Amino acid sequence: MQFISTRGGMSPVSFSEVLLEGLAPDGGLAVPDALPRISAETLETWRALTYPQLAAEVIGLFATDIPREDIARMTEAAYAEFPDAVVPLRTIGGGLTLVGLSEGPTLAFKDLAMQFLGQVLEYVLEKKGTTLNILGATSGDTGSAAEYALRGKQGVSVTMLSPQGRMSDFQRAQMYSLQDENIHNIAIEGVFDDCQNLVKELAGDVDFKRETRLGAVNSINLARIAAQSVYYFWAWLRATDALPEREGFEVSFTVPSGNFGNILSGFFAKQMGVPIRRLVLAANENNVLDEYFRTGIYRPRSSDETLATSSPSMDISKASNLERFIFDLVGRDPQRVVAAWGELAEQGFFDMSADLDRFTGEFGIVSGTSTHADRLATIRSVHEAGFGIIDPHTADGVKVARDYVEDGVPMLVLETAKPEKFAETIREAIGVEIDYSDELRELLAAPQRVVDQSGDAAELRAYIQAHAVL
Ligand SMILES: *Cc1c(COP(=O)(O)O)cnc(C)c1O
Repeated sequence: MQFISTRGGMSPVSFSEVLLEGLAPDGGLAVPDALPRISAETLETWRALTYPQLAAEVIGLFATDIPREDIARMTEAAYAEFPDAVVPLRTIGGGLTLVGLSEGPTLAFKDLAMQFLGQVLEYVLEKKGTTLNILGATSGDTGSAAEYALRGKQGVSVTMLSPQGRMSDFQRAQMYSLQDENIHNIAIEGVFDDCQNLVKELAGDVDFKRETRLGAVNSINLARIAAQSVYYFWAWLRATDALPEREGFEVSFTVPSGNFGNILSGFFAKQMGVPIRRLVLAANENNVLDEYFRTGIYRPRSSDETLATSSPSMDISKASNLERFIFDLVGRDPQRVVAAWGELAEQGFFDMSADLDRFTGEFGIVSGTSTHADRLATIRSVHEAGFGIIDPHTADGVKVARDYVEDGVPMLVLETAKPEKFAETIREAIGVEIDYSDELRELLAAPQRVVDQSGDAAELRAYIQAHAVL
C-alpha cells in the first residue's frame, strides 16, 4: 500500500514514511491509494486469531513495507498488558452491545492505537537511524496515552504541555506520576489553547523543528487510524461467533466522536469488507459533525465557541480527520477537496448538501447529538438496568445508538473510556462514589514530576533543546 495526499500534491510514500509525518507537504492528509477488499473466506479464517494476531493481519495490509513477522512481534508487545480478549464485548440490553476499548494503561480507547504506534515508531526510527522528539499539547486523554505508549522507548522523547490547574486530579496523576527520563510534562500558565499555540509556534519554526527533530503523534497519524480499524474486524467476528449463518451478516456501530478519527477507521473497515450496515456518529453539545451529516454543511467553530462539556474528549469543533472522508465523498478528486477547503477559508463553511442522500445511502453514516442531561439519564438507565457504570463519552454513544437500533441488526457501541476517569459526572448521574482499585489508589498517591512554565516560548525552546534525544 502506498499513501497519497487528499490534496493531490504528494508523490506516493510508504507506511514508514507517513508514520513520521503530520500533514502532507501540500497541506492535505495522507490516505491509502487504495484499500484492499477482504473476502468473506479470509474473514472466516481470521475468526480463530487472537487480538494481536488479527491486528498483525489488518495492520499488515497498511504497513506493506514492514516484514510481517516484525509487525506480529510489535502487536504482541503492544497488547501484552491488556486482558486476554484485549477488546471484550458485553451486552447491555435493548439490542446494544458495548465494545470495550478502554482496557489499556490510561483507561481510554486511544491506548489501542498508541500502544502500537509506540512500538512501530521505535522500530522505524531505529531502522532509519534517527530520533524523534514529540511535542504536544493535551487537555487530558491524548497526552497520557502518548506518554504511556512511548515511555522508556529508544530514540524518542515526549514533551507534553498541559494547562496549569485545568486538569482533573486523575489526569494529573496519570501523566505526572511517570518518572521515565524520556517523558517531560510541562504545566503551562494558561488554558489549553495557550499550550496548543506554543506547539504551533515551535513546530512552525522550520529551523528549530529540524534541529531538534520535532514531531507529533496527533489524531491524523495514519498508524493510529490503521490500528483502530482492527477492532471493527474484531467486534464483527465476536458479535457473529455464535451465529449459524455469518457470511455478510450486518452489524451497526455507534462511535462517540470528536476528531472523526475513530469513526474514520470504521469507515475504512467497512470499505475493506467488514459487513457494517451503519456507522452512527455520536456527538456531544459541540455537534459540528452531527450538523454536517444532517445538513451537508460543515461549519467548524472557533475555540471560543467550543463548550466545555462533561464528555470533554469530544469537545472538538474542527474535525481534523473529516477531510479523509470528504476525499472519498468527492470521488477521490483532490481538486474538489482543495475547492472545499478554499470555500471554508473564505466564508467559514462549505456546503455539500447536494450529496446528503449519499451519506447514508452509499456510506452508511448517520448521526446524532447527546447533551449533558442525556448523558446523565443514560448513565442512570444503564446502571438501573443492572449493566454497570459507563463513562460519559460512552453514554453519548448509547444515547444516540438507541435512536438508531434496528430489528435484527446488532448495535455495537464503542466504549471509549472507563468511568473511573470521570468520577464527578458519575456522582452527579447516580450518586455513587466510584470505587477505585488498589492500583488506581496508588496512582493517585504517587509522587508527581512536572515542570512549571509561564508560557514563554523562549523558555520552552531552551527546555526542549536541553532535553531532546538527538
Ligand atoms: C478521543 C476521544 C473521543 C473522540 O475520538 P475521535 O477519534 O477524536 O473522534 C471519544 N471519547 C474518548 C474517551 C476519547 O478519548
